[in-house]
Amino acid sequence: MSERAEIAISGDRFELDGKIAVPDDVADAVRTLIRWAGDDPAREGLIDTPRRVARAWKEYCAGYADDPAHHLSRVFEEVGGYDEIVLLKDIPFQSHCEHHMAPIIGKAHIAYLPGNYVVGISKLARVLHAFARRLQVQERLTAEVADCIWKNLKPLGVAVVIEANHACMSARGVRTPGVTMTTSRMMGVFRDDERSREEVLSLIGFKA
Ligand SMILES: [Zn+2]
Repeated sequence: MSERAEIAISGDRFELDGKIAVPDDVADAVRTLIRWAGDDPAREGLIDTPRRVARAWKEYCAGYADDPAHHLSRVFEEVGGYDEIVLLKDIPFQSHCEHHMAPIIGKAHIAYLPGNYVVGISKLARVLHAFARRLQVQERLTAEVADCIWKNLKPLGVAVVIEANHACMSARGVRTPGVTMTTSRMMGVFRDDERSREEVLSLIGFKA
């Protein structure tokens, strides 16, 4: 049996070792980029690089095959009289900027004030990753996470704050490392009521 034998599963093809098959034109594109960057894609250390890069990108962009709303489809109505803020703090994430395809590395804080429903806390992180594992800009990522929770969980308020470093700024361009960008999206009571907003921001660790 040939090493490149493939099995097709839901659009992507897989090799017999279980790894995703890399189409030739995708590997060629990476080879072209290596050559253009100034190296020789045929030298020994770079021989397998195109297929590794291609597979890595499938992983970085796994969010395209992940429906964020799906993670909020199982909600609990039993909130036991709990009517305070639920906050998931310091969730580490990785994304890639859509302008340079360079890493965005940061942490997110996601809070909501439950209406009639709560959700398993890990689901908030899953929503974040489903949007983060795509080509993104931080502002849109922040808004998409908040909107998704707002629409699907129907809470009284949603607050999403994201702090991240952008490799396109630290490793190229102005080459300024150590700069953090902060974005936030407040909805419902966190937008309309100053005291609620101050409360959630101080829980996250921001001075109100
Ligand atoms: Zn960028």
